[in-house]
Amino acid sequence: MTNSEGKYRAQSYSFDTSSASTSTIQDRGEHALWFADGNVVVVAQDTCFRVHQGVLAFNSPIFRDILEDIDYAQVRSDKLGITIDRDETGADGTVIRLSDSAHDFEHLLRIFYQGFDYLKTTRPDDFADLAAAARLAHKYDTSRVLNEATTRLQQLFPPSFEVWDANARIRASKRFRPDDAIEAVNLCRALGRRDGGDDMFPAAVYLCSQLELGHLLRGHRRADGTLEKLDVGELELCLVLKETSVKSAADMAVKLYAGRVSANCSGGFWINACMRILAGARQGPAMSQRFTKALRGDPLGEWLRDEIDAAAKAGLCSSCTRMLRYRERDLRKAFWEKLPGLVGVKVEA
Ligand SMILES: [Zn+2]
Repeated sequence: MTNSEGKYRAQSYSFDTSSASTSTIQDRGEHALWFADGNVVVVAQDTCFRVHQGVLAFNSPIFRDILEDIDYAQVRSDKLGITIDRDETGADGTVIRLSDSAHDFEHLLRIFYQGFDYLKTTRPDDFADLAAAARLAHKYDTSRVLNEATTRLQQLFPPSFEVWDANARIRASKRFRPDDAIEAVNLCRALGRRDGGDDMFPAAVYLCSQLELGHLLRGHRRADGTLEKLDVGELELCLVLKETSVKSAADMAVKLYAGRVSANCSGGFWINACMRILAGARQGPAMSQRFTKALRGDPLGEWLRDEIDAAAKAGLCSSCTRMLRYRERDLRKAFWEKLPGLVGVKVEA
C-alpha cells in the first residue's frame, strides 16, 4: 500500500476500549510494517505499525525499559510523549501510542529492520529522512542510528571548510531544499553538543541566514507536515549573522583585488593586461557592482568565483587567475573559521 513516492499511506484505525480482551484494531489492511507475527502495535498519528518487541528493545534502551516494565513506561510517558493503555492489549500485542509523527517513526523502524540501506530504494540520503532518523534516534537513545544519521547529515552541514567546499553540489541537489535549514537548526539544538548538533550548527545557521526574511518568520513545513519555526533566540542569531555576513562580503569584495599582479604573471611587460584588469576591478563601477552582490550577505557563495571566471575570460593570465582563486578561497576560509564563534558554539572539525 504505497503511493508513488514510496511512502506509506496513513491508515485510520479506531480503538474500541469496551472490548479490551480481544484485538480492537480495525481495518489493518496491508502494511509492510504490519508483521503477522508482531507482538506490539505502535501508533504514531493515525498510522499503526505491528512490529516485534525484541527488535524495539534491541535497538533502544528506552523501548527496552518500557517493554520490560509497563509501570516504568507510565512514569516516563509525559516526558517522552508515550502512552500505554493496558486495556488496548489484545491479540495484536501491547499498544504503544507515541507523540511522534508517522513519517518520523516509519523511518526509524525501517532503519531498525533494514539498516540505512533502505534509503537507497527510496530517495537516497534525503535531508528530511535523515533528520527524522536523527530526531528519533536521539529521543529513543539509539546511538547506532544516531551516529550514522549525523555522519550522513554532516555532508550537508559539515564541521570542516574542506567538506563544505567539496559538497556544494550536494547542497544544491534534490536531497536538500533551502527551507530545510530551519528544521536543521532546530534539530542541531535538540541534539546538542553531545550528539553532534553543535558541529553542524554553524553551517545550518548560515544556510538559514540565506533565506528570505519572510521564510524565516513563517517557518517551514517538515515532510510530515509539522511546522518548524525558529524561536526568537535563533531568529536573532540568523539576523545578526546576516549583518556580519554582509560586512564580511564587502570586505572580501575589496580584498580580492588588492595588491599587484602575480610574480609569475605572463600579462606582458610594457603594457600588462593583468594589471589593467585588476585596476579596472578596483574602480568605481566595478566596485559598485560588487558591493551590490556583497549586500546579499553570502560570503561563502560563488559570486566572487564567478567574477574570477569572467576575468580569466577577459584575458587575465593563468598565474594571476590562480592567485585570485587562492586568495578568494583563503578569504572564504577565514570567514568559515569565524562562523562557530559568531553563532556561539565550539566545533571539532
Ligand atoms: Zn597575470
